[in-house]
Amino acid sequence: MVLPSPLAASRARPRLPLLSSLPAGDLADLLVAAGGTPSQARSAAAKAIAYALGGRRPSRSRAEGQEWLTPRWDAEVFAELGIGAWAHPALSGLDAAASLDLFERAPSEDGTERLVLRCRDGSVVETVIIPGPARTTVCISSQVGCARACTFCETGNLGLSRQLDAGEIVDQVRVASVVWGSRAPAISNVVFMGMGEPFDNLTEVSRAASVLTDERGLGLSRSRITVSTVGVADRLEAFFRTCPAELAISLNAPDDARRSAIMPINKRFPLEALLGELKAHKPRSKIVLFEYVLIAGFNDAEADADLLAALVEGVRCRVNVIPVNPGPDPAIRTPSPDAVDRFVARLASHDVVTLVRRPRGRAVGGACGQLVSQLRIPQAGSATLPRA
Ligand code: SF4
Repeated sequence: MVLPSPLAASRARPRLPLLSSLPAGDLADLLVAAGGTPSQARSAAAKAIAYALGGRRPSRSRAEGQEWLTPRWDAEVFAELGIGAWAHPALSGLDAAASLDLFERAPSEDGTERLVLRCRDGSVVETVIIPGPARTTVCISSQVGCARACTFCETGNLGLSRQLDAGEIVDQVRVASVVWGSRAPAISNVVFMGMGEPFDNLTEVSRAASVLTDERGLGLSRSRITVSTVGVADRLEAFFRTCPAELAISLNAPDDARRSAIMPINKRFPLEALLGELKAHKPRSKIVLFEYVLIAGFNDAEADADLLAALVEGVRCRVNVIPVNPGPDPAIRTPSPDAVDRFVARLASHDVVTLVRRPRGRAVGGACGQLVSQLRIPQAGSATLPRA
């Protein structure tokens, strides 16, 4: 099943900057430059954001959801919102419609749904909706492809095509909200764990998080947005300073030799340097989520749990253990449920708060490390849109 395509309309429009790329302060600055006073500009920005992005649960009907993705956006609307004529040209120079075309929906039996989305330039990214008993999470992409080449990750095989703009990141949540509609539980959480390394596109990721958490717009709680990095240590300070979100760091091995073997980033920022930067810049109140992809026979021994516990000692944290998903390397195997249980019990015995993230969406390639959109669909421009 595929929704009507907002891109069908946006293609006919000139490629304008996206409204969804602009945090409220940036939009107000733009409107000051257009001739408003700071107070007029803040007021006009708030009205525009509330109108175009407000209400992340377009639950009444599919048609209303579609309208939410492609709002009317002209001088008549601005006047109805009480925005003065001085601001109309500047607002008309922005595109308020969602920039992404829903190309394909791949629902899984476990309730997870992978969305293949196409950007205005034809680039393709993937977004995954992950329902749970108490909350529904959207896993979003921050780049088209990824340069970091982790060996257990399909996306890493693609290489990096380009950065996503903040609006393209925000619009993944907008489209996912319409796809999810009125189902319960409502979408409340966003994780930057899709395609790409968010710290390699940190400026746009931080801007997107600011837009997502604007209470006049999509209104997500900053404590419910998590940005996951492989450990680009020299950007941790900037992350804590600029990004309204929680932090997750993928560790995946308890020592440098093994981490370097699966995560090339570790050669640039070994574990000691990574944890040193984290301790230097993490605000005391923040709890970090460490992710640990468990690979059979590689890092799943009880002795590895002991090493991992020693590594994270002194950091306010939780450890999320993730049994590896099938990926590009056949040597990387999923551990048995018993091995997972043993590892988790050993880690917990060190008083490390430990969670297990059971695989979701494997059957449709929507689980961690499986997002490979460019390999699944014809090249941009040659596809027949949309297909059910
Ligand atoms: S795990 Fe993340 S950082 Fe590593 S290659 Fe995959 S998308 Fe990139």
